[in-house]
Amino acid sequence: MALITETQLRARLAGGIPNPLPVAEDDKLTPAAADFLRSRGIEVKRTPSRAANARPFDSDEDLGIPVGVSARHVHLSPEHAEALFGPGYALTPHRELSQRGQFAAMETVTLVGPKGYLPGVRILGPSRGASQVEISRTDGYALGIQPPVRLSGRLQGTPGVTIVGARGTVVLNEGLIVAKNHVHMSPEDASRFRVASGDSIIVRTSGDRPVWFADVVVRVSPAYSLDLHLDTDEANAASLRTGDTVRMIGKNGEIRGA
Ligand SMILES: [Zn+2]
Repeated sequence: MALITETQLRARLAGGIPNPLPVAEDDKLTPAAADFLRSRGIEVKRTPSRAANARPFDSDEDLGIPVGVSARHVHLSPEHAEALFGPGYALTPHRELSQRGQFAAMETVTLVGPKGYLPGVRILGPSRGASQVEISRTDGYALGIQPPVRLSGRLQGTPGVTIVGARGTVVLNEGLIVAKNHVHMSPEDASRFRVASGDSIIVRTSGDRPVWFADVVVRVSPAYSLDLHLDTDEANAASLRTGDTVRMIGKNGEIRGA
């Protein structure tokens, strides 16, 4: 239980008081504090008591999420893999990725756009239904194409790009995206973080240039291990590298304990 006073609310005024203001069920407002809110038209939203919320959200080690930085890469349909590397060609695994069964292939391709090209772009396997090319905003300037930010697989209405392989070329009509940041979780992690597939979480980085990512989509599967996937622009902006840790500070647009 906590007592919320007018003085505390005044101190928060500069930073902005949310409306409605979340207040734990067992917290009390002084009469002056209640008047203060009423006079500003700010409503009080009662939330489950602090004690009920405290365990996972006050414990820092519970809320750390490792970061995986994704450089530009290509997923190929089986047909496109053959068109680029020859009939019957199978990609050669080069390195395992953090998510089970996924690998970076030995083979690379060149992406070609109206303004320029990007050589040595890694192919990720195994093959998928539809080809998909994931680049950063910065890569988009180099190619002369700015695709929208999309979750993997949501390719409708996206621009295409030309892919050049060792034995052939494929002109994609769609499939070029800037990948939307997302976090992979097992069902156990999801219950520990109190989130479900499709939720959006807010994470905060630490270090000399702290950054918040305010809309990270949660993807839950028994095959997933805990990993926040960012592209190189996002990682560079926050001085993050693969293996660094960020912290969850809220979900679905709300900061914990705000
Ligand atoms: Zn991912």
